[in-house]
Amino acid sequence: MARKGISILKGIDANEVIALLNKAYADEWLAYYQYYIESKVIKGIMKDSVVAELDQHAADELRHATMIAERILQLGGTPLLHPKDWFSYANCSYETPTNPDVLNILDQAIKGEQCAIDIYSKLAEITQGKDIVTYDIVSSILADEVEHEEDLQALYEDISEFIEQFKR
Ligand code: FE
Ligand code: FE
Ligand code: MG
Repeated sequence: MARKGISILKGIDANEVIALLNKAYADEWLAYYQYYIESKVIKGIMKDSVVAELDQHAADELRHATMIAERILQLGGTPLLHPKDWFSYANCSYETPTNPDVLNILDQAIKGEQCAIDIYSKLAEITQGKDIVTYDIVSSILADEVEHEEDLQALYEDISEFIEQFKR
């Protein structure tokens, strides 16, 4: 634990930040697995472009988990040690891809990104002016989640339009 690094927190307790970060850490692992497995089971029209996007997003979520774990450790905390804790700590729900249709998968992934945007914008508000390093990390993750939503929404619209044209 780095004492000087923790001493620069202003008006927020390190334990409060650690608790919030562990919840986001659980979200990242569930998001990682959701996109990982969606990219494997997905079926339907134009699925290859969706697979490429899901694989890229899964890699981003795993990178986010790493950024958060490292910050928790810097603050003197312990990242969740058992996967069973992911469900009890997570803010966002896990969308099980039981329907592998490409538009359904995209819809579920978009929901995940929208929940992540909510969580990280709240974390940015809470840490702004109080914990500069965490603020920086959550702002950078927030920018990725905003990009993720846009990528998936654009694919959803392209594929929906293609299907409409095909029907005509
Ligand atoms: Fe993420
Ligand atoms: Fe994301
Ligand atoms: Mg992308």
